[in-house]
Amino acid sequence: MEEKTAAQKLREELLNTKKNGWSVVDDAMEAAIHGYSEGYKVFLDRGKTERGCVDYTVELAEAAGFVEYKRGMALKPGDKVYRVNRGRAMNLAVIGSAPLDQGVSIVAAHIDAPRLDLKPSPLYESDELAFAKTHYYGGIRKYQWVTIPLELRGVVAMKDGSVVKVEIGNHPGDPLFTINDLLPHLAADQSKRTLGEAIPGESLNVMLGSRPLKDDEGSDSVKLSVLKLLNQRYGVVESDFISAEIEVVPAFNACDIGLDRSLIGAYGHDDRVCSYAGLKALFDLNGTPTRTAICVLADKEEIGSEGVSGMQSHFFDTFVSDLCDSQNLPLKACLERSFCLSCDVTAAYDPNFAEVYEKRNSALVNYGVGLCKYTGSRGKGGASDAGAETVAYVRRLLDDRNILWQMAELGKVDQGGGGTVACYMANRNIDTLDAGVPVLSMHAPFETVSKLDCYMTYLAAKAVYEG
Ligand code: MN
Ligand code: MN
Repeated sequence: MEEKTAAQKLREELLNTKKNGWSVVDDAMEAAIHGYSEGYKVFLDRGKTERGCVDYTVELAEAAGFVEYKRGMALKPGDKVYRVNRGRAMNLAVIGSAPLDQGVSIVAAHIDAPRLDLKPSPLYESDELAFAKTHYYGGIRKYQWVTIPLELRGVVAMKDGSVVKVEIGNHPGDPLFTINDLLPHLAADQSKRTLGEAIPGESLNVMLGSRPLKDDEGSDSVKLSVLKLLNQRYGVVESDFISAEIEVVPAFNACDIGLDRSLIGAYGHDDRVCSYAGLKALFDLNGTPTRTAICVLADKEEIGSEGVSGMQSHFFDTFVSDLCDSQNLPLKACLERSFCLSCDVTAAYDPNFAEVYEKRNSALVNYGVGLCKYTGSRGKGGASDAGAETVAYVRRLLDDRNILWQMAELGKVDQGGGGTVACYMANRNIDTLDAGVPVLSMHAPFETVSKLDCYMTYLAAKAVYEG
């Protein structure tokens, strides 16, 4: 070993230098990263909708010893409980040994993802082809949703109170669906439009069929034939779509990307990648944590966290308040000492679009979980902007455990922006910091993340719960 020069020593002491995570992790860690990714890919395929995520999470939670929490239930340290919010959102908790006025440790992620929703009156026939009208949900780039294989997943709530689960495309032998685009030969006019205008929202019509009903001379025979098939499979009629939530989602399943299998490509990494991290970390806690650990899986983040299943809903406060009641402690005393990791994805620096990033403050693929002091746009608008002390707390938490992390800003100032559930948690008087997995092609039907970053986010979530 050669002696280090004074300059080399200074470099190590003073400069903030980070390395690609794959050059840092050992063989055992590498195996753990790949093993973790297999479970995550199943979560993605099962949970292509918020309802699908909740259903699968309940299965996983019950297998891990969690029970459904009922108001008034006596709780003791180590107890594992969950509560589902209307099938679309969920809270899970492991009761800590400390009383709840010592605060709770929260990892909050969202399980909704950008997609196309069927309209309340979706079915129509045009020139002997049957289609379904859609209304897009969240920030999509419309041109990305044409000419890809699509599935239908969701529910129809019948007038009699029953709920029919609709899933077409994920069973062996199922047909798929698609949205058509213009052939280049006839796209002279379309090609002159901007990317944002080329595919208008009202043209995102899903093709459902093309074959008229046999021995029928009436109008809309193809639509009638499609309805007949839906009726045979699900017992629904046209008016039942009025009380349905059917989501059009990409048909492809999660897969490894790259010859080195270092990446995962899938629909819905935003934000199921952090949801799974928060969930798996809660399941994997060793023994009873000191503070109560809570994993929040929220809905409606992509449209502003509004509504009864969004992070602005009192569902969260009601749940924590119920837990506090079991210890005769006030909710406010719990919240003011709590910490929340608002676990949501961030933009990964993409060398193909370098001009929109400010590289010194961008998250790089394979450099670990990205911490965001603030999100927002145009002067941090809409951000909760975590306090420096809160960022220091998380730095210490991660460094003490050798978890790979990096700071992340979404992109260049004034280029755009985004939000998370962080501001709604902070508004509750909870110290909150955004952190999550850097994503390539965020909000596209097929997004890409690094396996190493997924695993580091899981370790970060675990560190938060352990406090
Ligand atoms: Mn998100
Ligand atoms: Mn998003």
